[in-house]
Amino acid sequence: MKYSRPRGTHDVTPAEIDRWVEVERAFERAFERYAYRGIRTPIFESTDLFVRAVGEQSDIVTKEMYTFTDRGGRSLTLRPENTASVIRAYLENGMHRWGGIQRLWYTGPMFRYDRPQAGRYRQFHQVGAEAIGSDSPALDAEIIQLVVEALGELGFAGVDVRINSVGTEASRARYRGVLLDAIESVTGELAPEALARYRLNPLRIFDSKEYGTSLKEKLPLLSDYLVDEDRAHFARVKDLMVALQVPFTEDPHLVRGLDYYTRTVFEVYHGAHGAQSALCGGGRYDTLVAECGGPNTPAIGMSAGLERIVEARPATSERDEGAGPRYYIMCAGAGAEARALQAASVLRAFGSVEVDVSGRSQKTQLEAASKKKARAAVLVDASGPEVAWHDLAMRNQVRVAFGALADHARKQAGAKSETRRSKRER
Ligand code: AMP
Repeated sequence: MKYSRPRGTHDVTPAEIDRWVEVERAFERAFERYAYRGIRTPIFESTDLFVRAVGEQSDIVTKEMYTFTDRGGRSLTLRPENTASVIRAYLENGMHRWGGIQRLWYTGPMFRYDRPQAGRYRQFHQVGAEAIGSDSPALDAEIIQLVVEALGELGFAGVDVRINSVGTEASRARYRGVLLDAIESVTGELAPEALARYRLNPLRIFDSKEYGTSLKEKLPLLSDYLVDEDRAHFARVKDLMVALQVPFTEDPHLVRGLDYYTRTVFEVYHGAHGAQSALCGGGRYDTLVAECGGPNTPAIGMSAGLERIVEARPATSERDEGAGPRYYIMCAGAGAEARALQAASVLRAFGSVEVDVSGRSQKTQLEAASKKKARAAVLVDASGPEVAWHDLAMRNQVRVAFGALADHARKQAGAKSETRRSKRER
């Protein structure tokens, strides 16, 4: 092998693609049911955007970004997450003037230079959603319900939804000093990196991968310092989730790794907990739109890791293991290709068609058709007026005039659905 994929990346081969598409489609259907509309943004943006939005002291900005200078001397960064880009696009396209709440969803690759391990890649994929334009707790409950519903459709029963409130600046201003004092009393237990930066953003301590709960338990909780408005907002979110029958657990240590969050934050787990096992995370970011230069506009978002969901997805017995083509066209000798391609054009109106251009023996081509579970294998020669139509399900063979291929395919499709219907009725 001369080349291999870069560390921390992976390929999705046709053997796995169906599992990926099923996950993406389940989320897409959920987004549609909740009236979210798609948005696509560039894979790279100005570095400043992420530094500002994700936070100068965040792990992402301090050590995980893929940043490069382009030939015009601009500093660009491969997106480590998509909320900042969506907000940039929301403002740049004047969507803040469209009125009402903008419910948006996206899917695509994200890039973080992190130590690759199970469930942690350098290029990974997220599906996510942003609901921009309201601070109603109903939006928080709705987006969490959406995630749980999409995961439920994918076979994840009883996921563990963790929620917390990181408050607004008013709450954090009350808390910061108390937290700083508490951290000062445990500095001996801090890793050098945390020691160097805890003063700049003390809340980051809860997000450090280096600490287990033992150090965190010695520190005061932000939830005890929430101002009344933040406390009421969080209480309402919880009430609504109870009303919607979405089970959740309060996790007072949950802060998330991105600085833009305010009030509600959440993570969704399946199975054993660990830094790598969150399937999804999200929260409110009521000040980000204004920080990016827009009007005061509260918002909430979520993003789910496709690799983690595909890998953790419970096995279902009915999973369709790779559908083959509906029609398999076999070429009888060289010179049959032109008519084979013409026959394929006709049959594509009725389903997928694979043309065998291998030049192999007819027997081998027929075996390939049946291995791929095609419904029919159609043998075409260079000039004859008819083709041989092998119905692989019924195990019979008929001659069909070349010009009558469409009629035959239509009849066959009709007969199949007729048999299915009468079976159902019986
Ligand atoms: P975050 O953007 O950090 O809130 O992450 C949201 C979700 O994306 C997580 O819950 C994971 O499922 C997924 N995720 C984040 N980072 C990675 C990574 N390096 N590799 C794979 N999945 C990731």
